[in-house]
Amino acid sequence: MNTISHLINGEQHHGSNTLEVFNPASGDVCAQVAVGDTATVAQAVAAAEAAFPAWRDTPPARRARVMFRYLQLLEERADDICRLIAEEHGKTLEDARGELQRGMENVEYACGVPGLLKGECTRNVGPDIDAWSDFQPLGVVAGITPFNFPAMVPLWMFPMAIACGNCFVLKPSEKDPGSSLLIARLLEEAGLPRGVLNVVQGGREAVNALLEHKGVKAVSFVGSTPVAEHIYATGTAHGKRVQALGGAKNHAVLLPDADLDNAVSALMGAAYGSCGERCMAISVAVCVGDAVADALVDKLSEKIRALNIGPGTEKGHDMGPVISREHLEKITGYITDGIEAGAELAVDGRGVTVPGHENGYFIGGCLFDRVTPEMRIYREEIFGPVLCVVRVKSLEDAIELVNAHEYGNGTCLFTRDGEAARLFGDRIEVGMVGINVPLPVPVAYHSFGGWKRSLFGDLAAYGPDAVRFYTRRKTITQKWPERTSHQASDFAFPSL
Ligand code: NAD
Repeated sequence: MNTISHLINGEQHHGSNTLEVFNPASGDVCAQVAVGDTATVAQAVAAAEAAFPAWRDTPPARRARVMFRYLQLLEERADDICRLIAEEHGKTLEDARGELQRGMENVEYACGVPGLLKGECTRNVGPDIDAWSDFQPLGVVAGITPFNFPAMVPLWMFPMAIACGNCFVLKPSEKDPGSSLLIARLLEEAGLPRGVLNVVQGGREAVNALLEHKGVKAVSFVGSTPVAEHIYATGTAHGKRVQALGGAKNHAVLLPDADLDNAVSALMGAAYGSCGERCMAISVAVCVGDAVADALVDKLSEKIRALNIGPGTEKGHDMGPVISREHLEKITGYITDGIEAGAELAVDGRGVTVPGHENGYFIGGCLFDRVTPEMRIYREEIFGPVLCVVRVKSLEDAIELVNAHEYGNGTCLFTRDGEAARLFGDRIEVGMVGINVPLPVPVAYHSFGGWKRSLFGDLAAYGPDAVRFYTRRKTITQKWPERTSHQASDFAFPSL
């Protein structure tokens, strides 16, 4: 059976410990993955440290050329990458292609690194004195990524970090590490020197070793909020720059004037695409007025019952399985909890079986109506195909509800009213906002980040924030007086 290895200094290492990787559509083990420990992390960081001086001094235009070749290879190997994603994660091949495409857009942005690294220069800040600010790489930086975007989230991180002149250690999710390793190997094939990008597989032990290693200067993390909080607290306590993106509960607000049919189509994709296992998935529909809620529940129920569920690797399905048996049980536990708390289960997706895939981790779309804010199904991130309908009386009530939630990743308003849209955009305490756009994931040349407990740290992921996150400013003030000029001592603080 295939063992998904570490990648250290250009070499694949298996190590002695492994974990099983499952195909969630069949429940079968499809690979083994190496499990890194403190020693593996030390080896990877040492390789990255050794590669750093030469890579730092490589002109940005040459680094960019590696990224151009990398884009080409990602395109050529897209089918292999997407097959691995669909096999190990469970999402459909079309969805995997969308994930890869969004990831590749970050490589496209990194191709422009010479322009992005341009400093700021001022001549004559004093007599014969010029000053400039330069953006220099940090050294070795690490990325820790979640299972739900095994290619895209690593591509949010290492292309820009490396294009900026850093060396990188990636710790992918142990649940679906195959595509992460493949995209890392392709960057070496594109001409990246050995040791600039390293991959350590595994879980908690490898993560904690990265957080404590003195050689790691910064950590980018994407995952659940409890782990994000731990990463931020531990990483910063060890003197590292940290950005830690966490979980979410994303609300779509529907006003009575919304184009309901289009909102329903949009919500189907945003709530049930990828089985709801997206940090930007809509998991709450906030209906302003009972008429909107009644119509929405009717229209959604019909479409949810018609969802085509099956293995992501086979064409024609809307939804594949969820990632693991434990996660399936967690989701069904939330359904029981919601019923006990008094919410109305309008569509029950439990107990779905797919012929020929009876051991797969499948669940159909679920829809709860009359959910209230104190219920666990409202407060907590379920990360499954479960949409909760909450009824409110006005746009102001909807805004208050969204703002009171602990998460602030994404949100969306469906309306035809420009004034309402503007008010919503101004008042809502959420980092990424859509107006009639259900999944407002910023494009690669903006940055991605939630508010409140969806992001710990000051800088968001990818885009312009990533250039700042993966570099530090140095300001040089330099004087070249004419040889003949005499300079007297000045004991006062320098000023003009
Ligand atoms: P997770 O937090 O369980 O795991 C993320 C990473 O952290 C993995 O690499 C894992 O090995 C590691 N890890 C897990 N537990 C750890 C621990 N106790 N100590 C140290 N490391 C640990 O997340 P997941 O289940 O893989 O991904 C789903 C979560 O990620 C959801 O909450 C989702 O909202 C979130 N997510 C957020 C964003 C965002 O941009 N905000 C994007 C994608 C996913």
